[in-house]
Amino acid sequence: MMPRAYPVGTGWIEVVTGCMFSGKTEELIRRLNRARYATQRVVMYKPAVDTRYAVDDVVSHSDARYPCRPVSSPAEMLRLVGDAQVVGIDEAQFFDETLIDVVERLANDGRRVVVAGLDQDYRGKPFGPIPGLMAVAEYVTKTLAVCMVCGSPANRSQRLVQRDDQVVLGASDTYEARCRLHWDPERFDAMQQSLPLDDS
Ligand code: ADP
Ligand code: MG
Repeated sequence: MMPRAYPVGTGWIEVVTGCMFSGKTEELIRRLNRARYATQRVVMYKPAVDTRYAVDDVVSHSDARYPCRPVSSPAEMLRLVGDAQVVGIDEAQFFDETLIDVVERLANDGRRVVVAGLDQDYRGKPFGPIPGLMAVAEYVTKTLAVCMVCGSPANRSQRLVQRDDQVVLGASDTYEARCRLHWDPERFDAMQQSLPLDDS
């Protein structure tokens, strides 16, 4: 028999991170669904500020859904976690740095914690607690989208509207995925999405 990667009772941290539309939420939902099929007790959290598609569901851009508890602080996750064995957290970049300690406590208590969030903001700068989480995680998965200009692998989120706040909620009307070459934080003009839908 193969040895287990982790002994029973040991927790760990998985981080799924990349730009917008790179499939972070899809991957988080996929991992949590598999845990659920294995009859593990699962809880999903998201920041209460993220009300884009639904309040009580985590929803991907491809409309995959998973029921969740919206929370306004990482401390609230500890209060609500109960006997969950697997903890999912989406849009983790919106929480403050206290998330790192909370995730470590959850993992130290023997839970599997799967955290998804943006690695960079629209200026290409490390976003909130994600870099710190990547440092302490056992597993880090970097997801890539498709550049809407050239079709190359994309790891940047291009903001299409001029706003200086770090947090501007939105989806394909506000952001699009770009590769390193076609991403420009100084440009906001709403370029037409050219891939993969435009075949003219
Ligand atoms: P994330 O959580 O990283 O923002 P989601 O998991 O919510 O990503 O959505 C991924 C889905 O977004 C893809 O399966 C695809 O349907 C859609 N999508 C829209 N634009 C793009 C793009 N430029 N590259 C890849 N997927 C895209
Ligand atoms: Mg997402």
